[in-house]
Amino acid sequence: MATATAASSADSDTECSVCHELFKNPKLLPCAHVLCRHCLLSWLASNPEALCPLCRGAIADPKEKSKTKGWEEVVDALPDDVAMAALVESTRVLSQDHVCVGCKSAAVSICLNCNDMMCQACSDLHTKFSVSSHHKVEDLSSMTAEELAASQPDHCSVHTSKPCELFCPTHGAAICHLCASAKHRACPDLTKLAEAADKSREELSQMVTSLLTEEQQLEEAVAALERHLEATEKVVQEAVAEIDMTCDKLENSVKEFRRRLKEMTLDAKAKVKDTVLTVKVTLLDHRGRLTSHRRVVNRTTRGSTNKGMCDVTRALRDRVKDILDTCGQRRAHLKAVSMFTLIIDAAAVSRIEKELSELGQVKISPASVGPVQIRIDQLDPRYSSCYLPCGVVLTDPDHLRLPDTACSGWGREAVVISGAVFNRGHTVNNNLNKATLDLSEGTRVGVMVTTKAELHLWVNGSDRGVIATIVPTPCFAFFELRGRYQQVSVLPPTHPS
Ligand SMILES: [Zn+2]
Ligand SMILES: [Zn+2]
Ligand SMILES: [Zn+2]
Ligand SMILES: [Zn+2]
Ligand SMILES: [Zn+2]
Ligand SMILES: [Zn+2]
Repeated sequence: MATATAASSADSDTECSVCHELFKNPKLLPCAHVLCRHCLLSWLASNPEALCPLCRGAIADPKEKSKTKGWEEVVDALPDDVAMAALVESTRVLSQDHVCVGCKSAAVSICLNCNDMMCQACSDLHTKFSVSSHHKVEDLSSMTAEELAASQPDHCSVHTSKPCELFCPTHGAAICHLCASAKHRACPDLTKLAEAADKSREELSQMVTSLLTEEQQLEEAVAALERHLEATEKVVQEAVAEIDMTCDKLENSVKEFRRRLKEMTLDAKAKVKDTVLTVKVTLLDHRGRLTSHRRVVNRTTRGSTNKGMCDVTRALRDRVKDILDTCGQRRAHLKAVSMFTLIIDAAAVSRIEKELSELGQVKISPASVGPVQIRIDQLDPRYSSCYLPCGVVLTDPDHLRLPDTACSGWGREAVVISGAVFNRGHTVNNNLNKATLDLSEGTRVGVMVTTKAELHLWVNGSDRGVIATIVPTPCFAFFELRGRYQQVSVLPPTHPS
């Protein structure tokens, strides 16, 4: 509801956006914006690139100016916005003080023929005078500028006092009876203006329908892109969560690995320490026995009688031999005490590093961009059925050699789908179904290159599969219109799903 109000007020905005006054000689620009003729001229004089001040749309080809005498000619070639001019005039009339043109009291009605405002008494008189008895007088309070503009009588542009009642289709002009008998005597099919207006009304309403349909389609396409963006957002969020989860897992594994290695190392150290201490205790114990026997032997040598020495020697001989014998075994204990070594496989580490770097690659799925599509609007019945060559070309369209065609000219820089399929000059499929590209009116045909570098053909919104592989990017879709394919529309981009 709010949109409709905004649109209707924008449709009937009677103020020029350059001079901020009511339009004077409004001119209709190619972008459908409106400017006063003199405002447009002064804008072009200081902005020779000739772009609309409101939307930067092209007003005219700047080269046009040098070909002609000046901007005046270019501006005069633009159509007058007749409807806007009438609306401006009505707005101007209605914005005046509502004062009776006859007696200067408050006006209540307006004569659509004279554009004069009148009080009740004067308007009663106005409709009684024979000269103005046929004038249409309307209530002023409920009159809108649009209604006033639409109810103005049509006057002949040549004979300004005469009403326009006829239409000449040959000259595309509304004319009076005088014009008809003077200048349009030989013109066929003169019709009543009202009938021509009915036709125009119908045509205008069809235009509104078509424009609205296209507008809706574009809106749908934009909405589809927005949905696509939202979906992408969601995929990204999920991907980020997945990344966090996977990396947390990996981090935990690395932490666990670190903990386990340290634990194993400390365990090994504890074992080594235990062994060392046990062996040390045994050795110390043994050394004690050696030392005490040595002391006994020393004491006996220094302080014994011969007999005593012989007795002690006999008593100690076997014992000392035993002790010395065990020495060998004790030294063997030492061999059991060894260092431990920690081995971390460097090759395994670099293998894991490499695997990590390859883990999780970001890919853009082919469904992210829809096919580039056209619709066959009109076929020329003079031609028999034939192919519509299409595909992709690697050359920037700005640098494409035209009117050469893909089949004779730049085919070596293109993947061409015609009777067969050619990838940069090489036949890659000789067996394409003839029905595939012999198209009837209303058919939609499109091409799309996926991230796998495969060219897909689309007919009526469905994917006909891979037509060619190893298609380089960037590339540009083309449709070669010739012969039978007289008129097509480029469809707005849509999400293929
Ligand atoms: Zn202006
Ligand atoms: Zn514009
Ligand atoms: Zn009056
Ligand atoms: Zn009148
Ligand atoms: Zn006339
Ligand atoms: Zn004519």
